[in-house]
Amino acid sequence: MTTTAFLGLGAMGYPMAAHLVRQAQASGGRTLVWNRTPDKAQRHAQEHGSEAVTLEGVAQADVLFTCLPTSAEVDELISALAPQLRSGVLWVDCTSGHPDAARRQREELAAHGVKFLDAPVSGGTSGAEAGTLTVMLGGPAEDVDAARPHLAFAGKVVRVGDTGAGFAVKAVNNMLLAVNLWAAGEGLAALGRSGVELGAALDVINASSGRSNASENLIPQRVLTREFPVTFALGLLAKDAGIALDVVQSARASAPTLAQVAGLIRAASHVVGPEQDHTAALKLLEQMNAQELK
Ligand code: NDP
Repeated sequence: MTTTAFLGLGAMGYPMAAHLVRQAQASGGRTLVWNRTPDKAQRHAQEHGSEAVTLEGVAQADVLFTCLPTSAEVDELISALAPQLRSGVLWVDCTSGHPDAARRQREELAAHGVKFLDAPVSGGTSGAEAGTLTVMLGGPAEDVDAARPHLAFAGKVVRVGDTGAGFAVKAVNNMLLAVNLWAAGEGLAALGRSGVELGAALDVINASSGRSNASENLIPQRVLTREFPVTFALGLLAKDAGIALDVVQSARASAPTLAQVAGLIRAASHVVGPEQDHTAALKLLEQMNAQELK
């Protein structure tokens, strides 16, 4: 009987932890939940049948998941928890974290006999609710294999390399999201200023080679509707773009386009607000073009 714990019941963690409960109910295990703001853990327990615990209570877990904004918050929890954890515990970090932090965190936890995997996810809040997230894992193959049966929120699981590789792939993926979003926005701003109706332009682009998830889903559903529903914060995308640039730098790679878009996303986060949805980055582009995308 496995006891899992999920720490960080945010936009992603809350629905991810619900899948752990469903799996535990089928197999006879337990699911503990902890959140900085405890009300959310209480609500999760009432809504899904998890057990809300204090940080000390988390020490009962065999497998421990975290999904926090950045590696810095994971560091805080490692400092608080590592001395209390039993040897052999597996710590699976689903935060979109930093590869350097992952290597340090694995070492720090290893000193207590605890194994660490970087296991960021993609698929957004809708993927978290549906249990179809893609999980990209960094760490030794045997630890990844030990984690696999517990990834109840996953639709696809890929070991991408050693410790830190999961975070690196996630950062580059989100950098590509930023590039596609920004580039599609630039093209549409130019077309809008030329008098083209943007719905018609997208109709063509989405049946053609210029399409992307940004043109097919994000822009029509969130930007043209002017709704910008907050599911993934712009500040978190700016953080991911910064990590991607660190990956570029430490690999001594040449990636001028990524550097430019990372700068624009950082600027958009400052101007529009880090708590806005990531698609609201295009509001900065609208200001730059005196052209609303609608
Ligand atoms: P949210 O802002 O919705 O949730 C953040 C969570 O972290 C909350 O539970 C919050 O607790 C907790 N938290 C914040 N600061 C601390 C702290 N100092 N100590 C302990 N807990 C803390 O973020 P998301 O769920 O959107 O994102 C989580 C991670 O997943 C990020 O790394 C993000 O980049 C990544 N991600 C997000 C996706 C999305 O679509 N939203 C998609 C894929 C990855 P509290 O409730 O108390 O504020």
